[in-house]
Amino acid sequence: MSGAYARGACPGLTAPMVTGDGLLARLVPAAPIRLDAFIGLCAAARAHGNGTMEISARGSLQIRGLNPVSAPLFAEAVAALAIDICESVPVIADPLPGDPAALIDANAIATALSHAAAERMLPLAPKISVVVDGGGRLDLDTLFADIRLRAAATSEGPRFHVALAGDGASATPVGIIAPGEALDAALALLTAIAELGPEARGADLLRVHKVTGARSGAAPRPVPQNRAQAIGLHPLKGGAFAFGLGLAFGHAHAEALMRLAAIASRNDARWARPAPDRALLLGPLSEANATATSREAQELGFIVEARDPRRRIVACPGAPACAQGLIAARALAAEIARDVPLPGGQGVALHVSGCAKGCAHPAPAPLTIVGTEGGCGVIANGTARAAPVRYIEPRELIAALRPASRNTLEAVNA
Ligand code: SF4
Repeated sequence: MSGAYARGACPGLTAPMVTGDGLLARLVPAAPIRLDAFIGLCAAARAHGNGTMEISARGSLQIRGLNPVSAPLFAEAVAALAIDICESVPVIADPLPGDPAALIDANAIATALSHAAAERMLPLAPKISVVVDGGGRLDLDTLFADIRLRAAATSEGPRFHVALAGDGASATPVGIIAPGEALDAALALLTAIAELGPEARGADLLRVHKVTGARSGAAPRPVPQNRAQAIGLHPLKGGAFAFGLGLAFGHAHAEALMRLAAIASRNDARWARPAPDRALLLGPLSEANATATSREAQELGFIVEARDPRRRIVACPGAPACAQGLIAARALAAEIARDVPLPGGQGVALHVSGCAKGCAHPAPAPLTIVGTEGGCGVIANGTARAAPVRYIEPRELIAALRPASRNTLEAVNA
């Protein structure tokens, strides 16, 4: 894990990021985490941080509230747990181990790529990322990546579509390769990006080589697939299942996660794995034990149904956890999820941000409530940095959003 300790791009263990509630360490798991190690990780987060743990939209595990003294102690504790984390560039692969739907074992390639990039000490930009999508049950198409490998079935067997700088819909296709070529091809692309400079990204490689979507017509995009959401039951090879649950607004206290892991262990699960879309997968479980785990997880406040409205609200810690917070973002988000009907549709409906920095969701949202000196700023179809169209006192926000005063959030948005 030395590479991860040395890097510091997305904040790793030894170069945690400064945030409004102290230092934040981010781990990108490269494999499922043994439940005993997961419990040890939570205990270390509780002992050395403020106890708040998050799973990001990209499936990274974030530990908040560290400080310059406790961060090295936390890093030592994690190193002792021998958790397999990405050593250098974050490589996101299919999060379900033993996924019968996967066409290619993406995890083996992702791990090898992470190790190889660490060994070469490529001087890559901090935010470089790679997605290796074996075509499994869970969708990785929504994740942006500098380099994307996406498996698809062909008459010659499974192949990887290679694309640069985008998500599944927007990345520019650059070729189709056999699975055996994937490691070398991805490493060559990372090396080529590094050669363009320490801040270069996948888009710079396209620009330098004058590759556009039109010019890359010989390498078509893979056909989009209707894939499963992470929340719920997922079959694994051998007849077992994984159960995916969500962390409300992407966070939970270390204590709750330790209790969840103990419940899963009692139900014979052996591993936990953070997954994209702020989810945590537990497995392997029998169907009956998955149901029992789900029931107890729900009692602890975890999200066990994909239609839970908290899945469609993004919120940062806000006040008082974050010193920059001007409103209690997560507390308000919980009230909104409980009391206000969300508009129909899928994806993020609402972003509640403690301040204009918008850490939790840099992209535009249909509706953003942002903390300002003048109260809750309301922004339609913009980011937290946009100018609010109106202001509401925090104590009046729920009433203003309720159907009695406005039909739905869409009405406020109008
Ligand atoms: S957006 Fe939220 S987490 Fe980020 S600095 Fe502002 S209050 Fe803190």
